[in-house]
Amino acid sequence: MAFSQQKFQQKLLEFIDVCNDGYAILTADDKMLGCNQAFCDIFYQDQRKMQEISFDDLMRLAFFERKGIRIEADDIEQWLSQAHQLRRQNPFRLFEVDLLDGRWFLFSEQILPSGEMLIQAKEITKQKVLEHQLHSKVATLSELALTDELTKVANRRCFVDSVEAELARCQRMDKPAALLLLDLDFFKSVNDTYGHQAGDEVLKATANRIKKALREYDIFGRIGGEEFAVFLSETDPATALHVAERIRVILADFPIKAGIAELCVTTSIGVALTHGESDFEELYLQADSALYMAKRNGRNRAELFSLLSD
Ligand code: GH3
Ligand code: MG
Ligand code: MG
Repeated sequence: MAFSQQKFQQKLLEFIDVCNDGYAILTADDKMLGCNQAFCDIFYQDQRKMQEISFDDLMRLAFFERKGIRIEADDIEQWLSQAHQLRRQNPFRLFEVDLLDGRWFLFSEQILPSGEMLIQAKEITKQKVLEHQLHSKVATLSELALTDELTKVANRRCFVDSVEAELARCQRMDKPAALLLLDLDFFKSVNDTYGHQAGDEVLKATANRIKKALREYDIFGRIGGEEFAVFLSETDPATALHVAERIRVILADFPIKAGIAELCVTTSIGVALTHGESDFEELYLQADSALYMAKRNGRNRAELFSLLSD
């Protein structure tokens, strides 16, 4: 077939007429010069209604009829004045638009030296759906990396990272802080007597109870099998011991339901305090050694590291 510019232009028009991408040309004073069917479909309007419509009126139609493109605004005139600050500032502009029917389009606006504007709208719904799925997968993965699967509280890694940051803040602000290490007493016998599943239920209930006994900004996590930890920032020794005692009592005095059984679970707690002098490792070792004392002194009790003689 012979090369023909005229034929090419004619064919191009045919393609534009039937293609899924929207095309429109606006005059220099922002009125519709013409558009294809796909562009009309984006706005849920017929060709007749689109004739010579101004950009502002087209947006007002979408806003008041709640059809076509999504316009999140209380006041359309205010929205339009913001839109005009972005429009026609550069010869080329690219932006994403979502529709009330769930579709997404990538709009491009190209301005000719005459001031006329060619708008192309390419459907990108599939890409946006994939993008959304990817984002929620990444969010789930990051949550999984930081959360203990059984109890849904912070896992060891998340706990340690959060405490290290908070400890540094307390040091900067010259504030005291406390670390509580908790280890459930004779937990092996819970599993041995009632089964592993009942043991899991107890761990979940324990985590919930401890969480409820804490302030919102206290850091709490499950750092091992039946081991939990609490970090209290800006807390003096008396308050730290008071919190430890509160946790001990809410476990010891109220049995936990696991299946048909009601189990009495107790915990031993090691408490270590710092006022700027210890890093996390040191504080952890001190709390661990206080916990060891609590076990040795009979369990179901809290011990404070600084009061230990050995
Ligand atoms: P102690 O008072 O000295 O701490 O005695 P204990 O029995 O609690 O200590 P030990 O370390 O001997 O046992 C801890 C038990 O915790 C052993 C393990 O079966 C149980 N455990 C650890 N993680 C889980 C878990 O995720 N689910 C259940 N059900 N049990 C767990
Ligand atoms: Mg243990
Ligand atoms: Mg234990």
